[in-house]
Amino acid sequence: MLKFPKAILVEIETHLLAEKKRVQEQITELAAQDPFADVDRLSDNAASDTEAKEEFNHDRVEAMLEELKLKLTQIEAALTRIKNGKYGYCTNCKQMIDTDRLAAIPTATLCVTCGAEKRR
Ligand SMILES: [Zn+2]
Repeated sequence: MLKFPKAILVEIETHLLAEKKRVQEQITELAAQDPFADVDRLSDNAASDTEAKEEFNHDRVEAMLEELKLKLTQIEAALTRIKNGKYGYCTNCKQMIDTDRLAAIPTATLCVTCGAEKRR
C-alpha cells in the first residue's frame, strides 16, 4: 500500500486543527445567540410576534448548530485517522484518496469513485 506523503499530512493536520478551533468558536458564539439557550420557555400556545420571531431564530440557530457539530465530528474523525495512520484511504475500497480531493475536502472519507457512487 502506498504511504501517504508525510508533508501533506502535516499540512492537512494543521489545517484541520485550525478549522476545529474555528468551528468550536462558532458553536460557542451561536449557542450564546439562541434566545432559548438559558431559559426553558417552550410555550406552546403563544403566538406573539416576539415569540414567533424567537422561535424562528431558535430553529435557525439549532439548524446551524447541527451543521457545525456535524462538521466538528468529521474534523475530529479525520484527526483521529491521521493519528492512527488511516487518513487518506477510502473507507469503502481502501484505495488512497486523491490528494487533490483531500486538499479540497480534508474530511473526505471516500475516494472520488466511491463518493460519486454514494451520491447516485
Ligand atoms: Zn473508494
